[in-house]
Amino acid sequence: MTRTQRAHCAFEALRKVIPEPETELEYENTWQLLVAVMLSAQCTDARVNLVTPALFKRFPDSDSMLGCSSDEVLPWIRSISYPNSKAKHLVQTAALIHERFGGKVPGTVDELVQLQGVGRKTAQVVASVAFNVPALAVDTHVFRVANRLGLVTRAATTPEKVERQLKRLLPEATWGNAHHLLILHGRYTCMARSPSCGTCPVTSCCDYFARLQRLPSPRTDLDPRKGKYFCASRGHYFDAPDTVSDRDGVDQVSCPRCGSMNVFLTKNGLSTKQVLDFRV
Ligand code: SF4
Repeated sequence: MTRTQRAHCAFEALRKVIPEPETELEYENTWQLLVAVMLSAQCTDARVNLVTPALFKRFPDSDSMLGCSSDEVLPWIRSISYPNSKAKHLVQTAALIHERFGGKVPGTVDELVQLQGVGRKTAQVVASVAFNVPALAVDTHVFRVANRLGLVTRAATTPEKVERQLKRLLPEATWGNAHHLLILHGRYTCMARSPSCGTCPVTSCCDYFARLQRLPSPRTDLDPRKGKYFCASRGHYFDAPDTVSDRDGVDQVSCPRCGSMNVFLTKNGLSTKQVLDFRV
């Protein structure tokens, strides 16, 4: 399956189960969206949604934050990650919006990144959601799911590379939609630690799932009294394994005598082989 076919298959299936993918952050105007996205860096949307109702009541627009000190903003966002620096950035951003953009949140990525504490990812989310600008921000969910599905090559080792490859792969008009689909799929199904492959709608086009299926079947003929591990290549039992990195850079348990990675745990017969899962 080519990456284009994989993308077509995956997004068609995801659109059926997530017909209206959109941000889960709650806001009522562009300023509030910008603030919510800034607060969501290294924090969950659910946590942000807990603090923003009171915060937006006190600071409903950028003008209402003008002239405030970060100490005045801090109490409203104390339960968010990195509250001190985020409070400073919000105050500075409100001032910059007033000074450079006539009191309105700017609508392009290039302008948005001029604001304090607004990186490329935040800028792309705001530009896409509020101004319908074609943008595809890559966060931890998009990075992981795009890699697991096989929408990007193994050379896409950074968010920037994933973004470039996804933008080449997908039609520009679908970037915003794809961004939200990958985030929501990563948040609720393809989680970092334990992806729910058993209930996932895109198993038929997922590279990670295909690799899991190719792992060796469990063995039932092993004797745990002879050792913790069994090397299936040469038939050795051993207790202290070596590790070697495979071609994907994953540390695999290996046989200390022959170096084989075809190793099984004797207590349950399972292969020790791991598939690269792109957790970041
Ligand atoms: S099959 Fe598993 S790894 Fe693949 S997208 Fe679904 S949950 Fe993620």
